[in-house]
Amino acid sequence: MDNTIAVIGSGAGGLLTATLLAEAGFAVTLFEKGALYDQSQTRPYGVEEIEKNYSYGGITASIGRPPVNFVEGSAVGGGTEVNSGLYYRLPKPVFESWQKAYGYQKLDFAALEAYAEANEAEVGITHLPHAPTQLAQKLIDGCTALDWSHTEVPRLFDYANSSTRDQVAGIRNSFSVKLLPRFLEAGGRLLANTRVKCLQPEHTGWQIKTTCRQHFSVWSVFLGLGSIATPGLLKRSKIPGNWGRSCYLHPSVRVVADFGAPVNTAASGVGTTQVNQFVPDFTLGCSASGLHHLAAALCADAHSLQQLPQQWQHAGLYYASTSTGAGRVMTVGAQDLLNYRLTSDDMTLVNKALHHLITLLFAAGADRVYPCISHKTWITKERWQHVRPSVKLSDDGLMSVHVFGSCPMGSHQQVCSTDEEGAVYNQRGLYLCDASLLGNKLGVNPQGTVMSFARHVARSFIEKYG
Ligand SMILES: Cc1cc2nc3c(=O)[nH]c(=O)nc-3n(C[C@H](O)[C@H](O)[C@H](O)COP(=O)(O)OP(=O)(O)OC[C@H]3O[C@@H](n4cnc5c(N)ncnc54)[C@H](O)[C@@H]3O)c2cc1C
Repeated sequence: MDNTIAVIGSGAGGLLTATLLAEAGFAVTLFEKGALYDQSQTRPYGVEEIEKNYSYGGITASIGRPPVNFVEGSAVGGGTEVNSGLYYRLPKPVFESWQKAYGYQKLDFAALEAYAEANEAEVGITHLPHAPTQLAQKLIDGCTALDWSHTEVPRLFDYANSSTRDQVAGIRNSFSVKLLPRFLEAGGRLLANTRVKCLQPEHTGWQIKTTCRQHFSVWSVFLGLGSIATPGLLKRSKIPGNWGRSCYLHPSVRVVADFGAPVNTAASGVGTTQVNQFVPDFTLGCSASGLHHLAAALCADAHSLQQLPQQWQHAGLYYASTSTGAGRVMTVGAQDLLNYRLTSDDMTLVNKALHHLITLLFAAGADRVYPCISHKTWITKERWQHVRPSVKLSDDGLMSVHVFGSCPMGSHQQVCSTDEEGAVYNQRGLYLCDASLLGNKLGVNPQGTVMSFARHVARSFIEKYG
């Protein structure tokens, strides 16, 4: 069994790592608790996708004040199967702050850039082949009026069938599409619908216990369960370490904007424009704005819900995403919980981001806006002169689709869980390869950084043992 490897979790970190290791000649078994779905058969961002491909059907929230609703993918391909694929490399200033905080002595920025380049070439990132959607154009119009900067974010997406901004079509470059065939071709073994319960050290490696009552003995293990479940599994397995003592989200607040005339279509998809004037504090952007997304956002307002079937094409859903707060992962029995706290300074930043988003939407021509926070009510431009709605500690409207930084990598052992090559401190043959390796305050969409770190971990291992 001297080249048998288990990779647990098949998301952005796990499936990339598994593919590189299998292609380097290791005998890799990939364990995934979710199922294998066909991207081309599931409506993106639809209710069925949320029910089937999200952890706990998308119903997950942090504990703490205010609670933050967060979501994670759970399928072969993990978050890459459900996400928008908005792609960023790790920004240099963020790398420099992590280098200081976590003590990167060997890991350098140039190496991460080279990994990012290889990931982009293999998975494929693309820019829109036509003008931005009308909803995204509203962000650009608002920026022009206010003299704020914006950018078009490339996506891990194939726009092959996309004809116009009102008919955005194509398919995600998700990992079940882009990497799974390579993994299987290289001889990798996939065990979908197989949840790993715990790990146990053995004389020559590790024993893996699954809910299918099967036990596997392997030489090395790579954990890619995501930022909540990776520390959860380590704790449940009683492996000593500082798992989950940190964990970060990008708490976001959303606003529905009504422009009073058609701006939205069933094929608008995800807006790729982001307002980057206020980075690293916050980013403003356009969410998926289908009828069901708008209905969920407006569910507390019976009158708007009634009007929605006739008027939804006048509206769009926008977000203000911050890089604030800090949490820790706790395990209670078989459950992993995220305890997340926002201080009053954090709340000031969240509200500043919300107010900038509303200012932008009015500058873009919105007739009225509806912040998705407690005491929900429509606000007209006239009322906006006098009323400043704000997110309170008792609010339940914050959400995040980004979870990271629960077991950081680095040489500062008091705060880090792995060395600079992803090897868990004081444990032979145990590695991490997912978003848990990242540091704090990332501020941009994380998948590009998760992939660069995962490639770094896999390449370092292959150089040593391949
Ligand atoms: C709705 C949504 C939209 C997003 N949009 C973007 C975006 O536009 N751009 C971007 O950069 N990022 C985006 N993200 C975030 C991005 O998808 C994640 O940062 C990334 O997928 C994290 O990778 P990971 O490998 O850490 O974990 P994941 O990709 O979450 O994979 C972890 C996998 O492990 C599996 N697993 C967990 N526990 C077990 C167990 N016990 N046994 C076996 N398997 C297990 C899970 O089922 C899951 O499939 C989005 C995420 C979501 C949910």
